[in-house]
Amino acid sequence: MSRFFVEKYKNLVPYTPGEQPKERKFLKLNTNESPFPPSEKARKYASDAAERLQLYSDPECTLLHEEFAKLCGVESDCVLATNGSDEILNFAFMAFCDESSPALFPDITYGFYPVFADVNAVPYEKIPLAEDFSVEVEDYIGKKGTVFIANPNAPTGLALTVEQIERIVASNPDNVVVVDEAYVDFGTESCIPLTKKYDNLLVTQTFSKSRSMAGARLGFGIGCAALINDLKTIKYSTNPYNINSMTMAAGVGVLLDDDYTKENCRTIAENREYLKRELTSLGFTVTDSKANFVFAKSDKVSGADFYTALREKGVLVRHFTQERISEYNRITVGTREQMDTLLDATRSILEEKK
Ligand code: PMP
Repeated sequence: MSRFFVEKYKNLVPYTPGEQPKERKFLKLNTNESPFPPSEKARKYASDAAERLQLYSDPECTLLHEEFAKLCGVESDCVLATNGSDEILNFAFMAFCDESSPALFPDITYGFYPVFADVNAVPYEKIPLAEDFSVEVEDYIGKKGTVFIANPNAPTGLALTVEQIERIVASNPDNVVVVDEAYVDFGTESCIPLTKKYDNLLVTQTFSKSRSMAGARLGFGIGCAALINDLKTIKYSTNPYNINSMTMAAGVGVLLDDDYTKENCRTIAENREYLKRELTSLGFTVTDSKANFVFAKSDKVSGADFYTALREKGVLVRHFTQERISEYNRITVGTREQMDTLLDATRSILEEKK
């Protein structure tokens, strides 16, 4: 730390992103990226946009907002594109949380939430998940604070129903409820339709997972026009050109190739169920993940040892040291071939443990 770093950030513990190794070629199953390339139109539109990089990107994201709003079945002033969904989440912490509206989220969830709270000097409370890692809906009913719920949750993959989320939203009319739908496309119902009924619901989504665009950095917020306007105030007060023109063009392209996205999601969901079945038959406990990852623990090898042994065999998964989940690993679902490579490595690790 330099002697110039301001006092308010001196104790800030930043978020640790999943490893992006450069020194060795791993089978990368650690950051929930898609195993499939971006859609053809996404690539073509991005490359056309590269021809005009001397110009600023459209700060209003007009075409992208229109196309995404169409897909969501909402008006285009009810969506806001951001630089990854991390940015819209940060905007939500800035716009809707303070001393009188502390942030509330589960004890086991996306690890960035407490960091967003800290960097914005927002107080927060972690609400423990049930023993089986499910979100206890009752714990969020009528709570005074801005609720953040990842649905499906990460890293457990467990999802609430739209009816359960609606109960939380309806019971907190004076607080914003943020539903982070980063993994919704792999088999959960979206809460977007509820944004027409409730002015306190913000849904966030990402193009990083189901739309194979993690490197392009594109996310969205969907809510009533007034909520979206607040988030626009934050955007125009920080970085009006937050979406670069290649990403903006790629975003439009992938939305026009929606059949490709749907097909990829179907394949991932099938491979997820296959991976769950195979790991279960090897003695693993797996959660009923609805996301593009499986959360698994073995009865024969510890979470940390399994992570290390897989790494030695060239397979990278995500291990969390947090006490309640330290026996688990989060494994990104990829192609069937990738899943078989992971399973072969797992079988030989279990064999070596005998
Ligand atoms: N929410 C959750 C639950 C996530 O796991 C992630 C991915 N790390 C994000 C949001 C952010 O994704 P991105 O910024 O790539 O859109």
